[in-house]
Amino acid sequence: MLLTGYPVVKGTFEDPTLRLAADEISALCRKRFQRAGSWSVVFEKDGALPSFEVRFKESVLTVAGPDAVEILYGVYDFAEKILGYFFYEPGRDLLNGSGDVEISEGVVIPARKVPFKVRGFIQEYPFNEDSPLLADWMAKNKLNFLNVWMKYYDGLDARGREAFRIRGVEIQSGHHNFDYWIPAQKYYKEHPEFFAEVNGTRIKPEKDENALLLGKQLCTTNKELRKEIVKNMVEYIGKNPELKSVGLTPNDGFGWCECEECSKFYDKSKHGELYSLSSHVYIADRIYHNMVQDVAGQLAQYRPDLDLYFCAYINYCRPSEGFKLTPNLTVMMAPYWRCINHRIDEKCPINSRYAADIKAWCDCKEGGKVVIYEYFMGVNFYLSLPQIFHRTIFQECAYYESIGVDGIATQFHPPHWSVYGLNFIAMAKALRGEKEEEAVPQMMKALFGDDAAEAEAFYEHMRHITTSAGPCHVTYPYALFSRTELGPYAKAVELAEALKAKAPLCKLRRELRIWTEYLYRYKALFDAFHAGCAGIPEIDHLLSWIHSHRDTHVFVHNRFDVYFEAWRTAIRKGKEYLHFNLDWEDDYIRQHRNFLNGK
Ligand SMILES: [Zn+2]
Ligand SMILES: [Zn+2]
Repeated sequence: MLLTGYPVVKGTFEDPTLRLAADEISALCRKRFQRAGSWSVVFEKDGALPSFEVRFKESVLTVAGPDAVEILYGVYDFAEKILGYFFYEPGRDLLNGSGDVEISEGVVIPARKVPFKVRGFIQEYPFNEDSPLLADWMAKNKLNFLNVWMKYYDGLDARGREAFRIRGVEIQSGHHNFDYWIPAQKYYKEHPEFFAEVNGTRIKPEKDENALLLGKQLCTTNKELRKEIVKNMVEYIGKNPELKSVGLTPNDGFGWCECEECSKFYDKSKHGELYSLSSHVYIADRIYHNMVQDVAGQLAQYRPDLDLYFCAYINYCRPSEGFKLTPNLTVMMAPYWRCINHRIDEKCPINSRYAADIKAWCDCKEGGKVVIYEYFMGVNFYLSLPQIFHRTIFQECAYYESIGVDGIATQFHPPHWSVYGLNFIAMAKALRGEKEEEAVPQMMKALFGDDAAEAEAFYEHMRHITTSAGPCHVTYPYALFSRTELGPYAKAVELAEALKAKAPLCKLRRELRIWTEYLYRYKALFDAFHAGCAGIPEIDHLLSWIHSHRDTHVFVHNRFDVYFEAWRTAIRKGKEYLHFNLDWEDDYIRQHRNFLNGK
């Protein structure tokens, strides 16, 4: 049948999510058809369905689902698959086509089993005026989880919280939070014993210039400290009753307590390994997991309904012996500095080890959840360098599903959406069980129309830049630029230029062109610097070129300021410039010179 106008939505809705679904389908159809039609829409709750299902019969479109959020997802999926929308970027819905739409009678979009319960983002910046657009985009792409720093959640007002809740996005207020639960300003004076002992004295955690508490931890075996944390958690959740979970995650970095009691929980002679950047420190899994289990047990006495999130990372990335992921525990496992040239399940000196850790977490599940903490944008200091992952994500999700992973959340930033947005959309689709063979061509078609094949070739070339660096690649600039030639970057500019020439008004194509020029300029500067022909003035020049593109979605500008300042500092101090001037990190980069090349 031919739909020739927008429908009437039947029913009145108490539930704000259903009310939103009704408003959305009306608005999306009005935009597509521009005039009234002769069909109607009804919503139907059906607890037996595994997900939404869309049916059309006798001029009635039924969007059915087990709950209101799935019905809302059904509305958005109908808009994408039938009306021609593509929800590409927060605040920017694309609509290809206008006017009449052909629809067949019967099941239009069948229900399907959703392979991953947890699908989302890790937000490492404060909520801002664009956060409502993020909530909107997440619902449109069926993402349901947002992990944020607690200090940022504190800054989100009731309306902002409601915007996410109505759209089915659970906010997990957690991230690195030892210092949130036990702030030094409040506790140090009366309880210096709560803080880690290092070289015989209790440290006082003070933020360094980057506002991180790198390597400054608590005396985690102290019983009073644990009680105090639980008390603070119960109080916090009392003040924020909408939250379904709390987190218990060390401050970033290393540095566990060395007091007599804590020392019983690790063996200083047993170090971590190169793949997880922990060969310079001892393994700290037992000391952390002992605390997690105790706190989870105490918390359950007050609030058995709450989930406790903790993380697996660097020198505590594996479950300690005998550890069980019981029903109220969720681990966020971060394959930090993973290799992006290999899939997580491929034979690779880094990823194979992370895959084994992830498998170990899945194997110790007894009702708890395993969520992968990903970096589908490199890491924060990869600076918009290429990570072409929109196909790889589907393949990795198939593997994760087979071993029982419960979800994935990735770090992201809206200001670099033109570089990594495709990865985020692909992740969202893969986590809902969509298949690469159908989803990727649909995405390319929606974004590039008749030039989809050419766009695929462009992305293939960008992927080739990272794979040509060596068998393995880890996402920091030195690993890419020290192992690639300038030629492929020049070719990237040519390909982006050709794509742009065919549709000069397309925002994405214009920004891909700027992106490739940036890569070319940065690589040329890197080479000139290492040849002794460039220094601080040339770095300043590139930085101001980057900042002249603030109206694009290519750069997270403040990261460039911080990173390039580290480069200048290295030059001023006459230090070998490798990354961010952290000695321990630079040591890994030196080891990677052989390791990433398979030596
Ligand atoms: Zn201690
Ligand atoms: Zn590899």
